[in-house]
Amino acid sequence: MTDPNHTYHLETRLVHEGQTRTPYGETSEALFLTQGFIYETAETAERRFLNEEQGYSYTRYSNPTITMFEERIAGLEGAEMAQATATGMAAVTAAMMGQVQAGDHVVAARALFGSCRWIVEDLFPRFGVGCTLVDGPDLDAWRRAVRPETKAFLLETPSNPSLEIIDIAGVAAIAHEAGATLTVDNVFATPLFQKPLALGADCVVYSATKHIDGQGRCLGGVILASQEFIETKVQQFLRMTGPSISPFNAWVLLKGLETLPLRVERQTDTAGFLADELHGHDKVRRLTYPGRPDHPQAELIKRQMSGGSTMIALDVKGGKEGAFRFMNALRLIRISNNLGDAKSLVTHPATTTHGRFTPELRAEMGITDGLVRLSVGLEHRDDLLVDLTQALAQV
Ligand SMILES: *Cc1c(COP(=O)(O)O)cnc(C)c1O
Repeated sequence: MTDPNHTYHLETRLVHEGQTRTPYGETSEALFLTQGFIYETAETAERRFLNEEQGYSYTRYSNPTITMFEERIAGLEGAEMAQATATGMAAVTAAMMGQVQAGDHVVAARALFGSCRWIVEDLFPRFGVGCTLVDGPDLDAWRRAVRPETKAFLLETPSNPSLEIIDIAGVAAIAHEAGATLTVDNVFATPLFQKPLALGADCVVYSATKHIDGQGRCLGGVILASQEFIETKVQQFLRMTGPSISPFNAWVLLKGLETLPLRVERQTDTAGFLADELHGHDKVRRLTYPGRPDHPQAELIKRQMSGGSTMIALDVKGGKEGAFRFMNALRLIRISNNLGDAKSLVTHPATTTHGRFTPELRAEMGITDGLVRLSVGLEHRDDLLVDLTQALAQV
């Protein structure tokens, strides 16, 4: 940073931190779209491979543009180290796989993003790693699930799509007592509104595809933890198995961080406004929004989050038929399973992202047939309210 003796605010750091300028003095961060790097001499190559000399060798390992993204997001999260990945799922997979081997056991919250749940529930057992899924908000359930071979806990809060909250500090304490680590998928809270590492988690993962890009362009992911965690559990796994982020995508995400507070704060304000306006609507059976005082876990939210969310869960009357009528009647808000975008998007989890689960399992995760997940974008709030109101009128 410019003045090493001044502590800059978050917004300032997100514009400047991590930038390495080339001798050309470019204003914007340089995009190093290169697979490899040239060594001046054979001796240099030898020293780089022996790790006796700092420097880049191959973009599957690292790349200057990717490093800029990693340093900037590590600063935002307050993490010692960040490791970028090709997608959010690559981040979750590497963070979890890197911690276990055959014979180990993990405990995970049941209300997980569909693919995350597949990793722990379907993939892990194939390699002899046991998994117990628990009701995330119930701290006793985490305690009861611990076995002598438990190595890692995984949770997501607020959860997708039901926006249920889990006590990060409470679960971290149980994990540490058991000699295990806690990994938090922090996508729904965004790095602005929840700091899992400060609450006791050992590792945070993001799908940077969501709010960090924020304009629906690139896939990406990131793992944030202590240097020791990254270097001993994650780095080798990623370098050898290869889900590296493209430098181009890292560059887009790096630039996305510059506007993240502006975008997410506006989207959250709009979501809060829409939640207040639609709460109690006669076509809505239930509205869940983490920024409202009537959220069942409002007290915990106040302790653990510094802002609401850009997401609203609406249980529309009339089950699947009601939800489909509502979604098909929307004119401005589009149907898509993505989230965190500048464009407002709706999805029907029961028939898409969570369609592979039985109705019983969906009920356990709070996913009713009428549930519609709304990701609030950057449109004017009044235009969104008009669209939502006219579509609800057609239910
Ligand atoms: C989207 C998402 C993921 C997966 O991210 P990709 O970038 O699509 O691989 C994981 N967890 C949560 C909570 C998500 O929303």
